[in-house]
Amino acid sequence: MKMETAAVHAARGVDRGARRQTEAVGEADGGAREMGMPHVPGIDLSTTYGFRTSSSVAESMDALLEGAHDAPNPVYARLHNPTVAGFEDALAVLEGAEAAVAFASGMAATTATIMAAASPEDGVRRPHVVAIRPVYGGTDHLLTSGMLGTAVSWVEEAGVADAIRPDTGLILIETPANPTLALVDIQEVVAQARRAGAAVGHRVPVAVDSTFATPVLQNPLALGADFALHSATKFLGGHGDVMGGVVAASEYWAVRLRQIRMITGALLHPMAGYLLHRGLQTLPVRVRAQQENAVVLAQRLSSHPAVRAVYFPGHSGDPREARLLSTQQAGPGSVLSFRVHGGAAGAAKVVESLGLITPAVSLGSVDTLIQAPALLTHRVVEAEDRNESGVPDDLLRLSVGLESPDDLWDDLSGALAGVEGLSAA
Ligand SMILES: *Cc1c(COP(=O)(O)O)cnc(C)c1O
Repeated sequence: MKMETAAVHAARGVDRGARRQTEAVGEADGGAREMGMPHVPGIDLSTTYGFRTSSSVAESMDALLEGAHDAPNPVYARLHNPTVAGFEDALAVLEGAEAAVAFASGMAATTATIMAAASPEDGVRRPHVVAIRPVYGGTDHLLTSGMLGTAVSWVEEAGVADAIRPDTGLILIETPANPTLALVDIQEVVAQARRAGAAVGHRVPVAVDSTFATPVLQNPLALGADFALHSATKFLGGHGDVMGGVVAASEYWAVRLRQIRMITGALLHPMAGYLLHRGLQTLPVRVRAQQENAVVLAQRLSSHPAVRAVYFPGHSGDPREARLLSTQQAGPGSVLSFRVHGGAAGAAKVVESLGLITPAVSLGSVDTLIQAPALLTHRVVEAEDRNESGVPDDLLRLSVGLESPDDLWDDLSGALAGVEGLSAA
C-alpha cells in the first residue's frame, strides 16, 4: 500500500467486536437479517472489562503485563485500549515499523523512550545519553536536569561516536530540529552508534524525534534508527485540539515501552486516540499543502529587508542539506524560522502586529502559528546554551498552515513593515 492509501485505511477495519456481534446476530437469525457494519472505528471508553472465567482473564493479564500488543480481555484501561491500539497500528504502518506505542503527550513518549533505553531487559543500567542540540526545549530540559537519573553529553554530529561510553544507553537526535530546522544525518549517526557500540560491547539505540517531518516526509527506522518519536499534538492531530505522543519501534522495544506506560500511567486517552487515528487520514494531504505554502513564504521572507536570515531545510543551498533532502527527507516540511532586525524587540513587534497569524506555541496545525522560541518554547534552556545552539532572541518560528499564502504574506509583510521603521529609527 502507498502512503496515501495506508493513511486513509490502515487499522480502520478494526471494529472486530462489532463485526463479531454482527455475525452472531446474523447467525441467530439464520442469516436472514443484514446488519450494518460501522464505517469508522468505535471509541471504547471502558476503564475495566468484565470477565466470566478467572483463569482466562488472568492469562490475558499475564500477557499484557509482559508487554503484549493485545489480549482477548483488555482487563483494565491502563493495560490496553482497543481505540488507542487502532491509532498505534495505523501509525506503525505509516512508519514501516513493527509496532507503535502511544502516550499522553510527546514528552511522555520521550520520557518512556529514555527510560526503556536506560534500563534494557538485560538488567544493566545505562543512564548516559548522547544528544545533539538543538532539540525541543522540553527534551533539552529533561536531559539537562537529569530528572530521570540520566546524564547527557551534548555533541556535534561528528562527535557522536567519541562520546559513547560503556554506560551509554541512548543517542537522541531531532531532525529537522526545533526551532532552527537544522538537519541531522540519521544514517551517519546510526553508523557511528553501531561502530562505537561494537567497541563498548552493546548496541546503542538511536532515537529520532521526527515530529517536524511526520511519517509522510521521513521514516527514521528505514534509515537504521531504533525509535521514531512524534509529538502527535502537532501534525498527526493537525487541528490543535488533541495532545498525544507516539513512538514507532521494533516489537522488542515496544514491549518495554508498553510495560513502562502501564506502570507509569502516561496513557493516551481513547478520545485522543480516536482523533489522532482520524488525523492520520488527511496527514499526507495536509503536510504537502502546508509545505507548498511554506516554500512560498520562505522565498518571500528571504527578500524582505526586515529579515536577517531564513532557516528552512534546503533553503540555504548548502550541498549537505540538499543531499539529505534527497536521501532522508522527502521535502522541507512546513515549519520555518527567521531572524528579524531590531533584536528581541523587533521580534516581539512582528508577533504583536499580526492579525491573521496567531501568536502561540505549538505547530503543525491547519492554521498558521508564530512564536519567539527564546521567549517561550526554549525558555527552559539556559540563555548561553540557547545562543550556542542557534536560538537567538530575534528568532521567530513560523508553523505554516493551510490558508492562502497570499493572505499569510499580506499579514506577515504588514507586520514586518513596522520592523523596517524600527531599524531605520
Ligand atoms: C512539541 C514537541 C515535543 C513535545 O510534545 P508534547 O506533545 O508537547 O509533549 C517534542 N518534540 C518536538 C519536536 C516538539 O515540537
